[in-house]
Amino acid sequence: MIDTDILIVGGGAIGLSCLNQVPPYLSRILIERNSSFGQEASSRNSEVIHSGIYYPHQSLKTEHCKVGRNELYRFCQGNQIPHRQCGKYVIATTENEEERLAELASHCEYEIVPFQRIGSDWLKRKIPFIKATSGLFFPLSGVFDSHRYLQTLEKKAKEKGAVLSYRSEFIKVLDRDPWTVEVRERGQTIQIRAKILINSAGGEAAKISNQVLTTDIYEHRFCRGRYFILKSFFQEPLQCLVYPVPEADGLGIHLTPDLKGTARLGPDSDWSSELDCHWDDLKSVFLNKTKKYLPDLKVQHLQPGFIGLRPKLFVRGQAHPDFLVEAHGKYLHLLGIESPGLTASLSLGAEVGRIVEKII
Ligand SMILES: Cc1cc2nc3c(=O)[nH]c(=O)nc-3n(C[C@H](O)[C@H](O)[C@H](O)COP(=O)(O)OP(=O)(O)OC[C@H]3O[C@@H](n4cnc5c(N)ncnc54)[C@H](O)[C@@H]3O)c2cc1C
Repeated sequence: MIDTDILIVGGGAIGLSCLNQVPPYLSRILIERNSSFGQEASSRNSEVIHSGIYYPHQSLKTEHCKVGRNELYRFCQGNQIPHRQCGKYVIATTENEEERLAELASHCEYEIVPFQRIGSDWLKRKIPFIKATSGLFFPLSGVFDSHRYLQTLEKKAKEKGAVLSYRSEFIKVLDRDPWTVEVRERGQTIQIRAKILINSAGGEAAKISNQVLTTDIYEHRFCRGRYFILKSFFQEPLQCLVYPVPEADGLGIHLTPDLKGTARLGPDSDWSSELDCHWDDLKSVFLNKTKKYLPDLKVQHLQPGFIGLRPKLFVRGQAHPDFLVEAHGKYLHLLGIESPGLTASLSLGAEVGRIVEKII
């Protein structure tokens, strides 16, 4: 039996952030089923630092995105993590989209997220490969090296004395108060006893909560996002983020550069948890969806990229479109941590730190 004050399940951005922000005088162990940190949602995403423009007023997504984005820029600056505050264009291509763009602008004014209105002439000069009637420019958006971010969080946690155990899978709770948990660690079954149990297991977190809380009310349904990498389309490295106006089921297939300027096109929204797909069939779907703003894009520019899974939270069968951060006694869970979870991760970890302080 291994004893600790805090046991964290899941070594993605959220688990690593929590590990760093629980009170330093508490002993802590993080278990992760993969052979290293951040092998799932935290490494299969757009690496965008979002400014917080899409989510409802006072939602956890809005609050943690706005605070987390500032924290993340500071963290990147302070720890030599490559990042670029390149800004983002949201563009309209039709009258109907102009109306939706105006709604987005009003929402951002209300949320006090800075932006500039951009006319078509300016857009033509700045992003000539895009067809658009007008747009909004959000200067606080950016991109960053998420792997280096997670690596730095891991290093800092170790320096503070945290234990990270990879190839260690949460199996079940054997006892409560203190929590006694069965863990499959590199082929062996062990038990860990903890005063506080934190579930940041990403897509698996709902299942774990049902087991721990002996309920069946939580469910994650998966909506995958697929990306193509663009080859030989741009003469110069892509320098900024370009998004269409948001759609009912997501942000719309967008263009994001990585730090080298290589452009990714995606993600789409497809209700499936399959990590493979018929990339060739998908090319025409992407071309159709993006031709309104990328008229010169051709099949030969699209190279299969990668797939990430969004855990969409349902509680008692009802969609819960926000993050859910709850404490049930000495058990804490973070559910529905889809986008902007990476941007929000430092803020969510700080929130967990405050909750733990109160419990202790
Ligand atoms: C397509 C896509 C694009 C996105 N783009 C962005 C973006 O541009 N900007 C942004 O801010 N956010 C973005 N996000 C959201 C962001 O990636 C996630 O919100 C964030 O990475 C979630 O981190 P996490 O730690 O909760 O989950 P994960 O990274 O999935 O980590 C959970 C960990 O728990 C582990 N685990 C699960 N079960 C167990 C178990 N039983 N025992 C031990 N370990 C277990 C898993 O192996 C995993 O490593 C995007 C997400 C997707 C899917």
